[in-house]
Amino acid sequence: MSERFDAVVVGSGPVGSAFARRLAETTDMSILMVEAGKDLADTGGVNIRNLPPERREGAYAEARAFPLARVASETRPQDALSARPGTFLLRHDATGTPDDLGMPAAAMSSNLGGMGAHWTCACPRPGDSERIDFLPESVLAEAFETAETYLNVIQDGFPSNETTSFIVESLRRDFGAGRTADRMPQPMPLACRKNESGPIWGGVDVVLGPLATAEGRAARRTELRTQTLCRRIIVVDGQATGVELEDCNTGQSRIVDAGTVFVAADALRTPQLLHASGVRHEALGRYLNDQPQVISLIELDPSRAWRGSSPRDVPDQRDNVTGVSWIPFKDRDFPFHAQLMQMDTSPIPLEPRADGSGRPVVGLGLFAAKEIRADDRIVFEDERDALGLPKMRLEYSLTDGDRDRLRQAADVVAAVGASLGKVIGDPIVLPAGTSLHYQGTHRIGPEDDGTCVCDPASKVWGVANLYLGGNGCIPTSTACNPTLTAVSLAVIAADDVAKRQSV
Ligand SMILES: Cc1cc2nc3c(=O)[nH]c(=O)nc-3n(C[C@H](O)[C@H](O)[C@H](O)COP(=O)(O)OP(=O)(O)OC[C@H]3O[C@@H](n4cnc5c(N)ncnc54)[C@H](O)[C@@H]3O)c2cc1C
Repeated sequence: MSERFDAVVVGSGPVGSAFARRLAETTDMSILMVEAGKDLADTGGVNIRNLPPERREGAYAEARAFPLARVASETRPQDALSARPGTFLLRHDATGTPDDLGMPAAAMSSNLGGMGAHWTCACPRPGDSERIDFLPESVLAEAFETAETYLNVIQDGFPSNETTSFIVESLRRDFGAGRTADRMPQPMPLACRKNESGPIWGGVDVVLGPLATAEGRAARRTELRTQTLCRRIIVVDGQATGVELEDCNTGQSRIVDAGTVFVAADALRTPQLLHASGVRHEALGRYLNDQPQVISLIELDPSRAWRGSSPRDVPDQRDNVTGVSWIPFKDRDFPFHAQLMQMDTSPIPLEPRADGSGRPVVGLGLFAAKEIRADDRIVFEDERDALGLPKMRLEYSLTDGDRDRLRQAADVVAAVGASLGKVIGDPIVLPAGTSLHYQGTHRIGPEDDGTCVCDPASKVWGVANLYLGGNGCIPTSTACNPTLTAVSLAVIAADDVAKRQSV
C-alpha cells in the first residue's frame, strides 16, 4: 500500500524537531518524522542528563547497541579515543594522540533527539564574522527569537550567587573593553528550565512542544517513527518525490511519497544520504569545519570568590554552583568563544586535595574559529558502512593560522587565570572533532556557484522541494556553539516551505 505525507523529515535531533514543529504550527501539512535510532529508555526525547543514574546508564547502553556504535566499540583498539556517553566515533581506531589529521574525534549520536538527547545546552547567538551576512538582519533576528522559544533558552537557569557574580564581574573588568552590552561576558544562555536543585536540561521533548506526545502529534497530522532508516531520497527531474525507508527491526523497505523532504541527519550523515541518493553538488561534504578546542582548569581566588563561606564547606571537593559563564567571540580582539563551567559539566577530571578540602575550581573551554577550506571534507568510499550507506572517511587538517590561534588560546587561558585566580596545570589541546560542532558540509550560500549546496532558505540548489538542516548548513567560521543557529535556519526553511505552499 502506498503512503504519502506532505512533508517527510529525516532525523529527530533539535533541528528536525524544530522544522516539524514550525511546519505543524504554521501549516496544515501532514508530517512524517523518521529517526534511525531508538527512543532511549522510552523517555520521549528528554535530555538523558536529567535521568537518575541507573536509567541514564541504561540509556547509554541502549545507545551503544546502535549498529554503527556496536561495530565501532567491538573493533576498538585499547588505546583508541573514547566517545562521549551517548555518542560513537566515526573512526573506531582513532588514537588518543591529540593530532588533527582526519578529525580523529568525529562522533555522532543515533537515537530519538540525536545529540540533542545528550548535549550541554549552551545556546549563544553568534556575533561579528560568525554571523551569516547574506541573510537579512530582520529575518535572522526573528528566527533566533523563535529558536530561543523552541529551545527555551534562559540565562538564569543557575541561581546567581557571590561566586557567579565574582566570575562575571572579573571577566567584564578584564575582557569587557570595547564590547557592546549584548557581547559582554555574561551568564551563558542555556536551553533549560529552572528547578530548585539545578536546571532541567532541554531535550527534543521541549523543541517538539505540542508534537512531543502521541496525542499532540495525532492532533497535528504528524507521525514519528523511530528505528526507521532513510536509505535514499528519490529525486526525479529536479523534484524529490519521496524517500526509501527501512524498518530497522524487520529490515523491510518501503517507499513513502513526499511533497517536501527535509534532511537533518547531522553534518556527516546528511551529505552521506544525499550522496547515496545521487544528489552530489560540488560542495557536498566539503568545507568541513570543527572548532579547535583548548581546555583548562582555573582555581578561583578564594579570598574574592568565597566572601561569605569557606571553600572547605563545598561538597564533593569542588564548586558546583557557578553554572556556566560566557565570554563571547569578538573579531581580532577575542577570536574565541569561552565557556567557564562548573565542574559537573566539565570534561576534565579533578583530583581531590590530599587533605580533603574543597577548592573553588571551574573548567575553562575555549573554542576557536577554524579557517575554512574546500579540501577539508568527507570522502565517500565505494565500501558500505554497517547500515549499508557509503562509508565515510574524513580528510581534514589544521592550517598554520589555526595553529597560531591555538597558541594564542594558551595566552587567553593565562589571562583568564590571572583574572579569576590561577590556572591549574597546562592547557590541553583536544583532538580535532572533540567540539562535536561540525559545520559547513552542506552549507547555504547566496548563489549557486559551486561553493554551497543550499540556497539561503536551506533548499538544495536545483531540487525544488528538498531542504537540509543542521550545523552543516552554517557557512561561516564560528567559534560559538552552533545549535541555536542551526535551529534558526530550520525555522527559516520551514517558513519558506509554508510560503511556497500558500501560493
Ligand atoms: C555531549 C554533547 C554536548 C553538546 N553541547 C552542546 C552545546 O552546549 N551547545 C550546542 O550548541 N551544541 C552542543 N552539542 C551539539 C548539539 O547536540 C548538536 O549541534 C545538535 O544536536 C545538532 O542537531 P541536529 O538535529 O542537526 O542533529 P543530531 O542531534 O545529531 O540528530 C541527527 C539525527 O539524525 C538521525 N539520522 C542520521 N541519518 C539518518 C538516516 N539516514 N535516517 C534516519 N535518521 C537518521 C541520527 O540517528 C540522529 O538522531 C553537544 C553535543 C553533545 C553530544
